[in-house]
Amino acid sequence: MIRIAFASLGCKTNQYETDALAEWFRRHGFSVVDDRDKAEVYVLNTCTVTAEAERKARQLFRRYRKLNEQALIVACGCYAQRADLSDMADIAVGTFGRSEIHALILDALIMRGALSADYCTAFMDVVAERAEVQSILGKFIPYEELPAPAISSETRAFLKVQDGCDHRCAYCAISLARGPSRSRSLPNILKEAQELVAHGFSEFVLTGTNLNLYGSDFLRRRGAGTDGELSSPEFSGLSVNSVASGDLSDVIIALNRIEGIRRLRLGSLEAGLMTQEFIDKIVDVESLCPSFHLSLQSGSDRILHAMRRRDTRDSYRDAVARIRKAFPGAGITTDLIVGFPGETRDDFEETLSFCDEIGFLRIHVFRFSSRPGTLAHKMPHQVPSEVVAERSEILRAKAAQLAEDAIRERLGQTRDVLIETFDERGRAEGYTPEYIFVKGHSRRANCLQEAYGVELPEQGSIVPMRIVDIEEQTAIAEII
Ligand code: SF4
Repeated sequence: MIRIAFASLGCKTNQYETDALAEWFRRHGFSVVDDRDKAEVYVLNTCTVTAEAERKARQLFRRYRKLNEQALIVACGCYAQRADLSDMADIAVGTFGRSEIHALILDALIMRGALSADYCTAFMDVVAERAEVQSILGKFIPYEELPAPAISSETRAFLKVQDGCDHRCAYCAISLARGPSRSRSLPNILKEAQELVAHGFSEFVLTGTNLNLYGSDFLRRRGAGTDGELSSPEFSGLSVNSVASGDLSDVIIALNRIEGIRRLRLGSLEAGLMTQEFIDKIVDVESLCPSFHLSLQSGSDRILHAMRRRDTRDSYRDAVARIRKAFPGAGITTDLIVGFPGETRDDFEETLSFCDEIGFLRIHVFRFSSRPGTLAHKMPHQVPSEVVAERSEILRAKAAQLAEDAIRERLGQTRDVLIETFDERGRAEGYTPEYIFVKGHSRRANCLQEAYGVELPEQGSIVPMRIVDIEEQTAIAEII
């Protein structure tokens, strides 16, 4: 059996795509192995968000070549879209054409005589010759469906619903790598969701490059006809046409109707989506978790403007206020970049004070990474790396303090937690609906388990837990 290994760098959308590709090969007689092991084929879904991500990719390609000199190495994703990786990989497919990767790999293996004749006959129709990184800028490209569902190894499933971005934030290489925004049709989203429920997933995370833009391209396509009807009875009253001019709320409402989906989470958003009208549409969606990752990037209006972001402190603050009114106790998390060109100490102080004001539950801190081809790459007043490092440490400390404050506010409260794993002490680990990480133990179950071997809750089950303590930004809870 041919061994194939997959790895993914970067975002959840990349992880989703890698899981879907791996699932096709799993279903077609390949042995999917860990990329630290020897394999005949290695597939790396690359990232270009920072110089570090690109360095990691090159390091991994070298490692695969060392593990198996004869291996077929495949590069795809954002870095492969923006750079010539032909010196490191045998096949390079950028951010468009991944739906053909399985065909390209079969072709290459046939050319190498690595596939049996029977296998070839069985899959002749899948084989494709040509492999190229297509330029995707300025082109209208449809959403690309992948050849299999993304069966994640985790307890929650990622469900990709959108790709690309029409914006040009000054520091961002993603929109340059992934091209214009395109939305996945609702029937295809629902079909995959039902297949993932059948695989036992009950929590779903909607992911994309910029979820705010879901549906924005439908109007463009409307002239080109729809993607078929939402025939199945439980979606009655929802026609593609109504969705074809809709937004992310239509996807959320439709997914909520699927039996077996107990929790819906939204991937990264921008505050601009959180209008009162949008919130009114989703506030009664039972399965929707009250956790909103609203990417901010800076707490200084001057820097937000220089970044070409669409938010201001005021618009962001108002969006958070609307969310908290509709979803009391909601978890607000965010991304912040430190060291953007021109960022002064005052700008940074504004970011710190804004973090206190909003009271973020979790902050992902990124050091500015100058990306070729972006506006910020050529901007003057690049911040010295030691200053960036210092500010990054200060902001991480702030993030830790705010995370603990958020837990402290909830001491004594009970939350439903989806059990994902168990730690070395046998404590159940998972997240609350507002996205607080919890380690839960059951005093009673522990003694009963010791005494009578009573089972602790299973992985994948959702159990009530009372938050009783804090341990390094982690809530310690008792399983009720
Ligand atoms: S919104 Fe900005 S940061 Fe996000 S993908 Fe688009 S261009 Fe990049």
